[in-house]
Amino acid sequence: MSYVHDILESLRRSSPAQAEFYQAAEEVLESLEPLLEADSRYVRHGIIRRIVEPERQILFRVTWVDDDGRVQVNKGYRVQFNSALGPYKGGLRFHPTVTSSVVKFLGFEQIFKNALTGLPIGGGKGGADFDPKGRSDGEVMRFCQSFMTELQRHIGSVIDVPAGDIGVGAREIGYLYGTYRRLTGRFDGAITGKGLTWGGSLGRKEATGYGCVYFAENMLNERGQGLQGAICLVSGAGNVALYTIEKLLQMGAIPVTCSDSTGTIHHPGGIDLTVLKALKERDRCSLIGYLDAHPDAEFTPVADYPADGHAVWRYPAQAAFPCSTQNELTAADAAALLGNGVTCVSEGANMPSEASAVELFLEAGIAYGPGKAANAGGVATSQLEMQQNAGLTRWSMEKVDASLGAIMAGIFRRASDTAVEFGQPGNLVLGANIAGFRLVADAMIEQGLL
Ligand code: NDP
Repeated sequence: MSYVHDILESLRRSSPAQAEFYQAAEEVLESLEPLLEADSRYVRHGIIRRIVEPERQILFRVTWVDDDGRVQVNKGYRVQFNSALGPYKGGLRFHPTVTSSVVKFLGFEQIFKNALTGLPIGGGKGGADFDPKGRSDGEVMRFCQSFMTELQRHIGSVIDVPAGDIGVGAREIGYLYGTYRRLTGRFDGAITGKGLTWGGSLGRKEATGYGCVYFAENMLNERGQGLQGAICLVSGAGNVALYTIEKLLQMGAIPVTCSDSTGTIHHPGGIDLTVLKALKERDRCSLIGYLDAHPDAEFTPVADYPADGHAVWRYPAQAAFPCSTQNELTAADAAALLGNGVTCVSEGANMPSEASAVELFLEAGIAYGPGKAANAGGVATSQLEMQQNAGLTRWSMEKVDASLGAIMAGIFRRASDTAVEFGQPGNLVLGANIAGFRLVADAMIEQGLL
């Protein structure tokens, strides 16, 4: 067995029952093998064994009272994975599927994603198994207040800076930040994604989706192609999906799908973003309501999805943007996409494609942008928010968007050049993993054994 496989095996023994984390670790470590062969320093300094262990993991009880006066108890998490390049940075996810494994997979990915941005930020992630769906504003507020009462001990503008993720949007960030401010007496950049009138950055809300489309455009331009006129499949209907769709429309592409936890919409004429935003951002309703405005669209409920995958990937298109959640795109979905003419996949979500689906994309040689590269625009713009907070200043939308465009081009260039350096041009999985890892690993070596 190789060095990397020995480490993966020992990880399975020492951290049992963490399937998502093993999946993320395996994907990264396997693609590092050419680097480990070329440069013995990383093995000699024990970097691989060190990098798969978080610097710190915080698990805590979150207690709150629901609207019926019943006591509720949830699990809260923050994983501070690696701070070699800067303060820990990464979002908070509130979803019933959140476990130690999910938070560790997301935190591990975040290390390399943040490094790839070229900005001084380390990797972390957190969340809770709390489901905001169906809860009143008062319940969400009480939950957030209790969650932050513990978390505030561990975060700070130069220590660890959380942001949003699934289930944590503008409302939750508001309640979390209010509690942080009250308990610490500080008004600083300890959380990003804040409201525009109280420390938030223009362009942060849009950044992950816009960045994911910029990344796709970079990949396609390299091949002499572009998104103009392209039929696009988008999954999700949350923050990342909405602003992916918005940027696709601005660029003259035709997004024809979106999805949520109840089903998938296919609208061949193009998704009506105004209707979609009203449904999901304002009313927080199921996508089936889209049919009220557009009876010509088709809604497929989750119960009718193909047994081996997801309805959203079964339509003809040129490009696909998975923007919902992990493992939402199976090998059968990948085969359907390739068979239906897709030549570009840019991941807005974290690890949305199963490992077997990624293999098919790489074998087919299509433009495939893995999440840690393609969705890094969100965290990069969060770091721009930190810069603005530290300087007590505000940038214009034009300045933020131009910085985002330049950062996404830089990430593409770093990943693409590294793939060429290691003899696998176009393999942005290998390129992104090696480029991100090398920056973190070199900093770890230079800073000594920690
Ligand atoms: P949101 O909570 O805003 O939206 C998530 C969307 O995905 C919703 O439409 C939700 O459906 C759907 N969804 C979530 N879980 C499931 C599931 N298990 N099955 C089916 N549908 C599901 O989250 P974001 O848009 O912020 O995040 C989406 C992805 O992007 C995640 O992987 C996240 O980690 C990643 N990401 C987000 C960043 C950000 O800046 N927000 C930055 C980088 C990556 P419903 O509406 O029914 O709940």
